[in-house]
Amino acid sequence: MIKEEHLKFISNIVGDENLKSEKAHLIAYSYDATKARFEPDAVVFPRHEEDVSKILKYCNEHKIIIVPRGAGSGCTGGALPSEGGIVLSLERHMNKLLEIDMENMLGIVQPGLINMDFQKAVEAVGLFYPPDPASQDFSTLGGNVSENAGGMRAAKYGITKDYVIALRAVLPNGEIIKAGKKTIKDVAGYNVAGILIASEGTLAVITEITLKVITKPKFKKTYTGIFPDVNSAMNAVFKSLASGANPVAMEFLDSLVIKALKQKYALDLPDDAGAVLVGDVDGNSEEDVQSQLDTLELSFKENKSSQFIIAANTEESNKLWFARRNASPANMIYGTKKLNEDISVPRSKLPEALAGIYAIGEKYGFNVPCFGHAGDGNIHVNVMIKDKTNEKEMEDGHQAIREIFQLVIDLEGTLSGEHGIGLSKAPFMDIAFTNAEMELFRSIKKAFDPNNILNPFKMAL
Ligand SMILES: Cc1cc2nc3c(=O)[nH]c(=O)nc-3n(C[C@H](O)[C@H](O)[C@H](O)COP(=O)(O)OP(=O)(O)OC[C@H]3O[C@@H](n4cnc5c(N)ncnc54)[C@H](O)[C@@H]3O)c2cc1C
Repeated sequence: MIKEEHLKFISNIVGDENLKSEKAHLIAYSYDATKARFEPDAVVFPRHEEDVSKILKYCNEHKIIIVPRGAGSGCTGGALPSEGGIVLSLERHMNKLLEIDMENMLGIVQPGLINMDFQKAVEAVGLFYPPDPASQDFSTLGGNVSENAGGMRAAKYGITKDYVIALRAVLPNGEIIKAGKKTIKDVAGYNVAGILIASEGTLAVITEITLKVITKPKFKKTYTGIFPDVNSAMNAVFKSLASGANPVAMEFLDSLVIKALKQKYALDLPDDAGAVLVGDVDGNSEEDVQSQLDTLELSFKENKSSQFIIAANTEESNKLWFARRNASPANMIYGTKKLNEDISVPRSKLPEALAGIYAIGEKYGFNVPCFGHAGDGNIHVNVMIKDKTNEKEMEDGHQAIREIFQLVIDLEGTLSGEHGIGLSKAPFMDIAFTNAEMELFRSIKKAFDPNNILNPFKMAL
């Protein structure tokens, strides 16, 4: 429990109005998108980098835990104060767009800026920031960098790390560092920004982010294809990409998801549809977009696609995307709880991964609807628990998840393509990393944070 004198000192730094320790605030900052709840001792809203530096210096000297927080939309408990301490919330004051540098095509932002606010600001001047997590309307760029967030557009445009040019951050001892420059090329020293990306608030507090932006493609069209089974759909993905199509997104739904969508939303999909691919194609000319659509159509037909549909306008595009956007809620027809994981495998291993996942589901008697980013190998796997009050079923569900992770690692994949490790995936780190690799992670943590005050014990560190 944090002492009154500590709260007083911190409140002298940020002002009374920016330190909250009333129950309502502690509850409000006790959660994220997981179901876990941990109340902090206090919530602090720094006004600027200097506040962050002073707070960290003081907390380091007094060994007070600090948990950085953006919007709290994380799916693995990274922003939860599982060991108590102070939640350092960056979203209230440190949320400004500082600069759009047109000549260098960069955006410089504070960490609490919402992803979509940044997208809108750069689009207003004809530029484009591609990383688009489904939480783009509410997640912060600081959270996106700290989790290395990805989105639907990753197939063509990559993920957050591909856009981070430089960071400013505060180390646990209060020192302010700059990692990277405004330059495209920079090979001087270690890639510290690269270490901070996806570090989930365990190494430093990110206080400023310099992001690359690109020009916005002028034309976009939505397509969809219906397949008899997931293997045909995956083969169509491989063939399309190898033939020169470069779709912005290539999302897939399996037969269980299709069944759920038909039941819940009465969607007009063929009864024998075993898989759906949906996505967008963009480009700077209508000819380029059409040529990519032609390539997709040919590759889909060669792989048993029964229908290839191109949206004629925004309304039709929204209709085609409806199924993908509502896959997650539709799956709840299969149970009272889902254990969902965002595993990722090399794209070529998707058919093997899906076959293995379904076999594990069958072994335990679970429906395991899968959907996600076929274009980049990242699948959302949902082990559906029929009765969440049944302890045995819940135990089997967790065992099934462990086996799925083992399968994914055996296929040279990873525990998480987007959501990070935080608390909820920490118990599985032993599957993915050797002792030597975990020791290396721990020594990096120690170099940044010798007193273990910053988001301690996350990521199995
Ligand atoms: C409906 C929904 C859809 C989602 N879709 C996607 C998706 O498509 N793709 C995807 O990648 N994720 C997705 N997510 C997960 C989540 O939105 C992302 O992980 C996002 O990047 C988290 O941002 P946040 O601002 O909410 O961060 P928080 O949840 O507040 O924090 C996440 C982690 O970052 C750390 N952190 C936050 N700010 C800082 C900082 N300034 N300095 C240091 N550490 C910091 C925290 O300590 C924590 O460990 C989704 C979540 C929801 C609820």
